[in-house]
Amino acid sequence: MSPRPHFLVLTFPFQGHIAPALRLARRLLAAAPDALVTFSTTEAAHSRMFPAKPDDGGAEVPDDDEVGGRLEFLPFSDGTVAGYVRTGDPGAFNAYMARFHAAGARSVAGIVDAFAARGRPVSRVVYTLLLPWAADVARERGVPSALYWIQPVAVFAIYYHYFHGQDGVITEHRHDPSFVVELPGLAPQTIGDLPSFLTESTDPSNMFHSVFTGIRDLIETLDKESPKATVLANTCQEFELASLAAVGAHDVLPVGPVLPSGDESGIIKQDDAEYMEWLDAKPENSVVYVSFGSLASMAREQLDELLRGLEESGRPYLFVIRKDVKVALAEVEAEMMGRLKNGIAVEWCDQVRVLSHTAVGCFVTHCGWNSVLESVASGVPMVCVPRLSDQHMNAQLVVREWRVGVRAQVDDGGVLRAAEVRRCIDELMGNLEAAAEVRRMAGKWKRIAAEATAKGGSSD
Ligand code: UDP
Repeated sequence: MSPRPHFLVLTFPFQGHIAPALRLARRLLAAAPDALVTFSTTEAAHSRMFPAKPDDGGAEVPDDDEVGGRLEFLPFSDGTVAGYVRTGDPGAFNAYMARFHAAGARSVAGIVDAFAARGRPVSRVVYTLLLPWAADVARERGVPSALYWIQPVAVFAIYYHYFHGQDGVITEHRHDPSFVVELPGLAPQTIGDLPSFLTESTDPSNMFHSVFTGIRDLIETLDKESPKATVLANTCQEFELASLAAVGAHDVLPVGPVLPSGDESGIIKQDDAEYMEWLDAKPENSVVYVSFGSLASMAREQLDELLRGLEESGRPYLFVIRKDVKVALAEVEAEMMGRLKNGIAVEWCDQVRVLSHTAVGCFVTHCGWNSVLESVASGVPMVCVPRLSDQHMNAQLVVREWRVGVRAQVDDGGVLRAAEVRRCIDELMGNLEAAAEVRRMAGKWKRIAAEATAKGGSSD
């Protein structure tokens, strides 16, 4: 009898990577009733997902009844105790990545070997961004692997073509944000909208240079696969038809949007859910939800402009200001609370629940891909405030392709001003025809997302 299918799902220790990886793990378990999944991220992230209780000292990892014990959480070592800790040192992230690569590969190799020795061999390694070594570890052991791409396929295609001979034109014009580049099979894009790691991080002195080299290594390791590499993408065919055809060299299979299907574990824990009661008391489509994801920092000036714009919009708002952002802006907390007239602030919320609440009428977002997918799947129009990585491309899809949002313009110093916040919110929530049209489109793409992920849909 051949052993049960056993997926080892590996992910980088960021919230925006853990969430889609865990959602995919649950999708796999639902789709393959005899399969086992081992979910693995770094030890530091694992202990934030499953904090030790004060009395027993040990982390409590759920024995998942819902999936009949077929999901196991087993961390790997990144060679550190605390993981990546943000400091003022501009070299800290690259130094962390060097350890993550070396120690991570060693530790995951040990996990794969141990499972084989215990008669529960891994039959497929599934890995997200920034772990190109996972494919090498799997290949060396004769285990097939699949990349789980957690950004739009358009972004994958840009990276693919950059590292297949198209780097010259991008490098030459990288300081000219309005220069338009045409890559094979893709719509023309300005330099300013390309993934920032290709225009800002190619220099070894850049604080995210290791992301650039990590993506280069990823494209290289995919090229080594034979037969063709398998790439699962958290998107659906209907969202990105042209881009899917632009990376024909690999089998890119859209399986998304992969959304939560059970309790979520993440590395950032939630406030109590009083905001849900607050939402319950608000009329349909009246609330502005504001969040910039799990990583973005915010300068004091930007926070002030946002708050002023939200207040001036005259609409109720729910604003996520993470604890670490508050700590960084030490003086904020007490003073700011006094200025919230129309809205409430929380340190973290269950975003998927918030977006699916009927009171929420628009989402002011940094356009992280998870946030975009969650918003589209809930039919909520977006005010796009992209900053880096894939966020500009994601905003392009929202505004230009699907027409479910507006792009907020920042000033020369990169600050989003209060008047622009108000203008964008009015455009999406006001009485004009434009707002009605965006809501119609949001309803259409919500249906498309639901159909794609339903039984027999294009992502099933
Ligand atoms: N998120 C959340 N509560 C919050 C803010 C964000 O649950 O208060 C979740 C959000 O639902 C998404 C993830 O955090 O799944 C953020 O991922 P995204 O790709 O949007 O951005 P990143 O954090 O990677 O920049």
